[in-house]
Amino acid sequence: MHIVSLAGGIGGARFLRGLRATAPDAQITVIGNTGDDITLFGLRVCPDLDTVMYTLGGGINEEQGWGREKETHTVKEELAAYGVEPQWFGLGDRDFATHIVRSQMLEAGYPLSQITEALCARWQPGVRLLPMSDDRCETHVVITDGQGRRAIHFQEWWVKLRASIPAESIALIGADTARPAPGVLEAIAEADVVILPPSNPVVSIGTILQVPGIKDALLAKTVVGVSPIIGGAPVRGMADACLTAIGVETSAQAVLELYGADLVDGWLVAPEDEGVALDGVRVQARPLIMHDAGAAAEIARAALDLALDLRR
Ligand code: GDP
Ligand code: CA
Repeated sequence: MHIVSLAGGIGGARFLRGLRATAPDAQITVIGNTGDDITLFGLRVCPDLDTVMYTLGGGINEEQGWGREKETHTVKEELAAYGVEPQWFGLGDRDFATHIVRSQMLEAGYPLSQITEALCARWQPGVRLLPMSDDRCETHVVITDGQGRRAIHFQEWWVKLRASIPAESIALIGADTARPAPGVLEAIAEADVVILPPSNPVVSIGTILQVPGIKDALLAKTVVGVSPIIGGAPVRGMADACLTAIGVETSAQAVLELYGADLVDGWLVAPEDEGVALDGVRVQARPLIMHDAGAAAEIARAALDLALDLRR
């Protein structure tokens, strides 16, 4: 069985760990979000790819959900001592090594997909991790503050401002000319089923769907999604601020409508969202909080079973 899953960071990674546990014999291809990528201190940082890689590879900081376990922050402190900006983005010493390797390989001319494969040779995530695209595309956010109306990088809005200033719009810069990374469309074509984990519907899943060709390829497949919104609120993080920015209500119903019945065939919601419905979509209600790896595996099993059932 070949499963394709799109993925952002924490929500995607924790779900994928469950999926791998519940379907150990399946071939899993993950199409990762690179819209969050940013260049800092001359280094290319790919937060969502790394969160998936560290989580599945056993190197994640479990409490935090991102970054490395047993981390230290000497490099960050030394940079701050020089007054080098930005100081609002957390990069640990171990994590820095990943970004150094990646940046070195980019400088040598390797595409991100091959670099990700090389990094995964160490981490052995047990899935094939592909960036959505080798072409640079970054999410930018338009805000108005004391400096006027301006576009800032998604990370500045998300990490520095904690989404405290409303986003007037969110745009994926470079999306119009980006191509899916090698292997992405092939994996989708070969997939038996496609799963959308409970990743951010705007800046994780929504971003991947904006790479020309990816959504079209998915329309031909059996797709099941897991709601990241429970009882009208994100389980963690500030996805509500992203949904508001694109004029979508923060609810399991509205996210389902955003994805649409042409894309998704099945939709898992939490028990408190039992009434959610859309023509052409089979909705199932079940506990959706990934308390631990076991709970994530049960949710992944439910998504996979629904997908296999709909595929018949
Ligand atoms: P990010 O890139 O680190 O923000 O991670 P993702 O985009 O992959 O996932 C973020 C989304 O995961 C948020 O909208 C959360 O609501 C959702 N999420 C996190 N934990 C859980 C959980 O246990 N259950 C569900 N259903 N959603 C979750
Ligand atoms: Ca992310």
